[in-house]
Amino acid sequence: MERILVVGGAGYIGSHACKAIAARGIEPIVFDNLSTGHKHAVKWGELAIGDIRVPQEIEGALERYKPDAIMHFAACIEVGEGERYPLKFWTNNTGGVINLLNGMSKTGIKNVVFSSTCAVYGQPDAIPITERQACNPVSVYGRTKRAVEEMMIDLSNAGGIRCAILRYFNAAGASSDGDIGEEHDPETHLIPNALKSASGLGARMKLFGTDYPTRDGTNIRDYIHVMDLADAHLAAVDKLASGDPLIVTNLGTGTGVTVLEILRSIERVTGLKPLYDVCDRRPGDAAALSASTAHAAELLGFRPKRSDIDTIIADAWRFHRRKWGI
Ligand code: UDP
Repeated sequence: MERILVVGGAGYIGSHACKAIAARGIEPIVFDNLSTGHKHAVKWGELAIGDIRVPQEIEGALERYKPDAIMHFAACIEVGEGERYPLKFWTNNTGGVINLLNGMSKTGIKNVVFSSTCAVYGQPDAIPITERQACNPVSVYGRTKRAVEEMMIDLSNAGGIRCAILRYFNAAGASSDGDIGEEHDPETHLIPNALKSASGLGARMKLFGTDYPTRDGTNIRDYIHVMDLADAHLAAVDKLASGDPLIVTNLGTGTGVTVLEILRSIERVTGLKPLYDVCDRRPGDAAALSASTAHAAELLGFRPKRSDIDTIIADAWRFHRRKWGI
C-alpha cells in the first residue's frame, strides 16, 4: 500500500489518521473543503481542496491520485444541527458518499474505510452494545450514517467494493506530542469544554443532567483515544487489502465513564477544577453507552493502548495548552 486518500483529513479524527498513516510509511493525501477542518492540521501529505458534494471534484481527486484505499471522515457531526438542517446532513453525509462511491466505481478503487458511529444504534437495548443489536437511530445524524452503512453493505455484497464500517464511540484526546487535537467550532464535546472551563479561559461548563439512572446520576460514555482509533483504521485497511469484503465493527474500550468521573480526572491531571452549572438533560442523550469490544479484538486484533481516561485527558490538555498559549 502506497497511498491513501483521506476524505475529511483536515478534521479531528482524519488528521490523526493521517499522522498514523504517515508513521507507517504510507502517503496520506487529504481531500477536504476546509469547511470545518483546518489547513494547519494537514502536515503529512498533500492537501487537495475539494467538496464531496460536487461529483467532479471527488472523481478528479481519485483519478489524479489513484489511491490504494480511501478513508472517509468528512461529515456534519453536530447532532442538534442535524435536527435543524436535515437536508444539509443528508446532502453531505449521504449524498457525498454516493459521489465518492460513484467515483470509486469509475476509477476502479476498491477499498474504503467509513467513519460510522454508535449513534446508528439509537437508544440501545442493552450495554455493552454488540454489533448484533438492531440499528434504530434516533437522530438525523445517526440516520444519515446508517443509510451509508446500508449502501456500502449492498455494494460490498454485489462485489463492487470492500468496505470497513467503523462505529466509533466517543473519540477523545489528542496526538501525544500536542501537534494536533480537537478543534471544533462551536465546540460541543465534553472534554474540550470541561478543559476550557478549568483553564479559566472560557465560560462555566454546562453539565447536562444529574438525574440519570447511573452510579452518580450523570451520563456514561465510552471514550476512546483518537490515536487508538487511527490505529484501528490502519488495521481495517490491511484487512480489506487482504481481500476481506466487509467489516462492521464497534470501536470503543468497553469501559463506561460518567461525566463527573471525567471532571475528576481533569482535576487530577491538570490540578485545575472545571467549573460547571447543572442544567437540564440534553434532548436525545442516552443514559449510558458503551461498546462491546470482542468483535474488533477478534477481527482486527484491536486493543486500545492509550484510552485510559487520565491518558486521554493528559494528551488533550497538552494540545489545548499549546493552542491556548497557557
Ligand atoms: N456533556 C455535558 N456538557 C457539555 C458537553 C457534553 O455535560 O458541554 C455531556 C453529554 O450530555 C454526554 C457526555 O457529556 O453525556 C458526552 O457528550 P459529548 O457531546 O462529548 O459526546 P456525545 O456522547 O454526545 O457524542
